[in-house]
Amino acid sequence: MNQSNLDEKYINHTKDDELRVSVLSEALPYIQRFSGRRIVIKYGGAAMANANLKKAVFRDIALLTSVGVEIVLIHGGGPEINQWLKKVGIQSQFKDGLRITDPQTMDIVEMVLIGRVNKQIVNGIISCGAKAVGISGIDGGLIEARPWGDGTHGLVGDVARVNPDLLEPLLRKNYVPIISSVASNLEGRSFNINADTVAGEIAASIGAEKLILLTDTPGILNNKEDASSLIKQLKLSEARELILKGIVNSGMTPKTECCIRALAQGVAAAHIIDGRIPHALLLEIFTDAGIGTMLIGTG
Ligand code: ADP
Ligand code: MG
Repeated sequence: MNQSNLDEKYINHTKDDELRVSVLSEALPYIQRFSGRRIVIKYGGAAMANANLKKAVFRDIALLTSVGVEIVLIHGGGPEINQWLKKVGIQSQFKDGLRITDPQTMDIVEMVLIGRVNKQIVNGIISCGAKAVGISGIDGGLIEARPWGDGTHGLVGDVARVNPDLLEPLLRKNYVPIISSVASNLEGRSFNINADTVAGEIAASIGAEKLILLTDTPGILNNKEDASSLIKQLKLSEARELILKGIVNSGMTPKTECCIRALAQGVAAAHIIDGRIPHALLLEIFTDAGIGTMLIGTG
């Protein structure tokens, strides 16, 4: 039997198979770097509304946990809160781009976020074969809330304190904690908090390696109308300047601010990435180039 016969007889895999194992093998240094480390993800935008993108996020999370990365997921409400407010006929008033949250609105926010959105995410991740448990900022006294700003936005809250005790045993047992961005103050009143803000504070409190915010833009843009003006890397001081100059505004402000706060408290890197790209999480974590905007703590 000559060599070529030997090859034909024993090679029964395809070029696709070869590509798959070579990609997997190239992932080894990234897996080694992040295994046993913590990554906090804010899940929102298109990645939460589109069925295929949702599935890709859940699979990415299942993959990351199966190679030993400890993941914590924070979510907002997406369009579902608006749909339910409409269904029950509650009209919202807006101030400074924030919904003034009266007690009636807060009831719906709580029901939709904790009752529906949270459980859908938990189900999705479990059906990909990972372990997940759904909680809110209220559970285990995880987050203490206080009114946002001057307190004239009703039950819109900010993070006063984080007590991450509850997360430790979950992470040790390989559960992905799925956290709704609702928390209560010391009197037991519930507040609705921006999920980016919650993610940043949680990341800092558990010593996360990375904070990743999934959204509907390529990252921080120099001109928000021009997708090609993406800023790939930013130091803390540069990020602060973008807010002061108004280049970063509206929904990008809490994202940039929470990245700044997380970095200042020891998180090594914070990323704002495009959740419209399938497997955006893996592209960020398993490639050198990464995607979106990376904010780093030096400077
Ligand atoms: P999410 O639902 O993911 O929290 P938001 O709508 O709250 O998203 O925030 C993202 C939005 O921030 C973008 O769609 C964009 O309109 C706005 N934005 C403001 N400044 C910038 C900027 N410099 N670069 C990119 N987006 C920006
Ligand atoms: Mg937002």
